[in-house]
Amino acid sequence: MELYIAGGVGEHGRSCFMVSSPDTAFLVDCGIMAGDNKPYPHLSKEQIQSAEYLFLTHSHADHCGGLEWLYSGGFDGTVISSAPTFEQMKIKPKKAVTLEEAVPCAEGEIKGLKICWGRSGHCTGSVWYRFEQNGSSILFTGDYTENTLVYRCDKIRGIYADRAVIDCAYGHYTTSYAEYCKALTERVTQLISEYPILILPVPKYGRGEEIITLLAASGINAEYYGDEHFIKQLSDKNPFWKKSRSDMPKISSVSKEDKGIYFISSPQLNDPLSAELSEHLISRGGYAVLTGKVEKGSFSEELIKTGYGEFIRYPVHQGINECIALCRNNHFKSVTAYHAKEKISIISE
Ligand SMILES: [Zn+2]
Ligand SMILES: [Zn+2]
Repeated sequence: MELYIAGGVGEHGRSCFMVSSPDTAFLVDCGIMAGDNKPYPHLSKEQIQSAEYLFLTHSHADHCGGLEWLYSGGFDGTVISSAPTFEQMKIKPKKAVTLEEAVPCAEGEIKGLKICWGRSGHCTGSVWYRFEQNGSSILFTGDYTENTLVYRCDKIRGIYADRAVIDCAYGHYTTSYAEYCKALTERVTQLISEYPILILPVPKYGRGEEIITLLAASGINAEYYGDEHFIKQLSDKNPFWKKSRSDMPKISSVSKEDKGIYFISSPQLNDPLSAELSEHLISRGGYAVLTGKVEKGSFSEELIKTGYGEFIRYPVHQGINECIALCRNNHFKSVTAYHAKEKISIISE
């Protein structure tokens, strides 16, 4: 199987890979690059039209935001992803099959293409894939982390692949998960003693549920508030969740007056409702904590620039150390690290 990288290597965004063999051609993810005036993957019309399938790893825009563009380029294949990913996507695919339906036991075959998949720990619905055909194999971790509080990760272990495309979004940073968590909880503890309101903009699906669990478990004494979407997510039950909701702290609907920690399901705060709410909270003495990628030109970036917020990472990806450990725990003949701005070279075995 031949791999063509259409985006996502040496850049944070636009994840898209094309795999072709004499028998088939398919895509893994079709993401966009936020803030780029040419945000789409580098695929020709011939490549787009030859793809029989698009396997999606999860619903974040840097992995599936190019679907409409793919259709406009003549894509006529079947989209395959986990059921929660389909539910979360804004654009509904024309031909779609859930992974749970197509490969129900996490291992199976679609027209001679052997597929193995597992939950990747990154958000609800996120998965990794291993494909094999005619003795040739390739693995995609998707956005992957084994360090999770609420999401399940079916750890990739003892797997052989001729090629592995693995998440190394944090590049050469060597900070461990425990160190990141310690830094975040310590800083939040300090900030909540200084500011009446803390604003935590989080993605619609992903780290927010992890962060509220972390803060509550570390004994931070605060009232928690969330928007409708966030509260709904916390009560969601699906096989991607690790724990029962009983571990979650009490959370109330967003109040415009009360002190506490506010979870807003909009990481860049670009939509008018979230921007307006955060502006109101700031006017009441609030301060924002951005825990993931802050996009250029976003309202979140403006808050940092104007001194009303700061960035403290909560990790939902791998860095170089986790990548090396993953390679040691498996048998990858060659490795491509993706999702980092810089080029990362990892020698496996
Ligand atoms: Zn993601
Ligand atoms: Zn991603």
